[in-house]
Amino acid sequence: MRSKPNVIVTGTPGTGKTKTSAALAEATHLRHINIGDLVRDKKLHHGWDEHLQCHIINEDLVCDELEEIMEEGGNIVDHNGCDFFPERWFDRVVVLQTENSILYDRLAKRGYSGAKLTNNIECEIFQVVLEEADDSYREEIVVAMKNDSVDDMNRNVAAITEWVTSWGSTT
Ligand code: ADP
Ligand code: MN
Repeated sequence: MRSKPNVIVTGTPGTGKTKTSAALAEATHLRHINIGDLVRDKKLHHGWDEHLQCHIINEDLVCDELEEIMEEGGNIVDHNGCDFFPERWFDRVVVLQTENSILYDRLAKRGYSGAKLTNNIECEIFQVVLEEADDSYREEIVVAMKNDSVDDMNRNVAAITEWVTSWGSTT
């Protein structure tokens, strides 16, 4: 049994995973692990996807890399998918959701266009990541949170922090 919980913050790109995870790490003193950064820094990929303009993640290498610290506990994993991680790693699966027009503006501002922008907007409309979370984890640990505004984010971070703080005393 780990002494601190592991949380995954997931959602379509642009829903605010990294911003939320950083604020959550500051509030809880858990370790923020940005999978995109890890993949790039440790080269845990099969190369670059020219069409989607992103690395093709080597999921086995990512899981091997993280196994030890996930067993230890106290991690916030920040990634746009959640289905390739071992189910046993996580105590809470947070799926961030953002209203379409707001998400569109965030992604456009990030420089996304064409297929990359359209794919991500569709991903959000069809709730692809929420469905993936529901298919991969127990219903009781999956929570969807609206993240349209800074107020939303502060509320979400406060709620998750409270959950982290009480973890272990109730389970
Ligand atoms: P992700 O990691 O899911 O791709 P980011 O955390 O990088 O998303 O956020 C994407 C953009 O949206 C950033 O410019 C960030 O500052 C902004 N953003 C994220 N969350 C909020 C929020 N709750 N309110 C306003 N802007 C936000
Ligand atoms: Mn991010």
